[in-house]
Amino acid sequence: MKLADRMSRIGVESAFDVLQRAKALEAKGKNVIHLEIGEPDFPTPPHIVEAGKQALDEGFTHYGPTQGLPDLREAIADEISRTRRISVGPEHVCITPGAKPIMFFAMLALLEPGDEVIYPDPGFPIYRSMANYLGTKLVPIPLLERRGFSFDLDVLRDRITDRTRMLILNSPQNPTGGHIPEEDLREIARMVADRDLIVLSDEIYRRIYYTDSPPASIASLPGMLEKTIILDGFSKTYAMTGWRIGYGVMPEWIADGVNKLMVNSNSCTATFTQKAALAAVSGPQDAVDAMLSEFRTRRDAFCAELDRIPGFRCPLPGGAFYAFPNVEGTGLPSKELADILLGEAGVAALDGGSFGEYGKGYIRFSYANSLENLREATRRIADLSKRWS
Ligand code: PMP
Repeated sequence: MKLADRMSRIGVESAFDVLQRAKALEAKGKNVIHLEIGEPDFPTPPHIVEAGKQALDEGFTHYGPTQGLPDLREAIADEISRTRRISVGPEHVCITPGAKPIMFFAMLALLEPGDEVIYPDPGFPIYRSMANYLGTKLVPIPLLERRGFSFDLDVLRDRITDRTRMLILNSPQNPTGGHIPEEDLREIARMVADRDLIVLSDEIYRRIYYTDSPPASIASLPGMLEKTIILDGFSKTYAMTGWRIGYGVMPEWIADGVNKLMVNSNSCTATFTQKAALAAVSGPQDAVDAMLSEFRTRRDAFCAELDRIPGFRCPLPGGAFYAFPNVEGTGLPSKELADILLGEAGVAALDGGSFGEYGKGYIRFSYANSLENLREATRRIADLSKRWS
């Protein structure tokens, strides 16, 4: 036996690969600062943990409805309606084990081989992996450093065709920390207005922003609700990566497809986890504010330090918890630099090239780590920089 041919088209997420390599080095006694994995280093807020424990005590240990518990879907629909200034109900909300399955299910439910899928480059590697797995035509659109890592809109306009079936947006963005300004979203909405396609709007970092107002959602623009799937979840906002809970908000006909894929794969999302998520969305939000304020302090300090390293140029990102410095000035390919950073300085970070062709020449650092560790990381990189400066 061998793996099916289509498995040669599925990718991986380099963050998990580098994490494994870093752990192997640690097992041999090397000290490693982990700036590779994209997860908040804060504990899940206690009232959320408490709600999860209480749910277990109350017997939320059995199967639940495939689409998710009605009270949680109701609370999410209310929140999405309020924050995106749209009107959606619980019938539009599908709860899944993490937000990632929404990518998988939406693409599986909607795309045929040969359909064209547009996605950001550099971008979250799973978009490309899933689109390739399904035999679609991959259409990466460069993000431009000089536009705060928003799309090159001219390229986007050129690449939308009659075969484009999905346009993936991610704002605030992984890996760049950039965001798509509202005027760009308006322009994009105009480009797709008469097209038969779906926008997958990955808004998982929506609450982690440093701009004056929250990042805009394309779903809020006239006519876009019917052609948008909002992907969001609890992993980043509430430091709940390991609980595995996320959701999509979508037109009902797509939700029907996603429910069928859910019943065929997971049956449902763990119900005690959903009760914890209900406490997250309907409870106090001060822990979210506190995390954001800490991320901002780290961002300011870390990016300033990175910017001072010879060969690095690090603009201040507008959202998420990633710094994405341009490292072309070091004269080293970014992949080689990432390997040196891990192997010699014990700083685990990701080659921008693992997020796409246009990510080459950049390194992604997750600053979801203590200020002390971030300072130590930049000290180690600055020491190493004698090599290339
Ligand atoms: N979208 C983006 C852009 C992400 O960075 C991540 C997680 N790294 C996800 C979605 C998936 O989130 P979850 O852990 O909830 O599946």
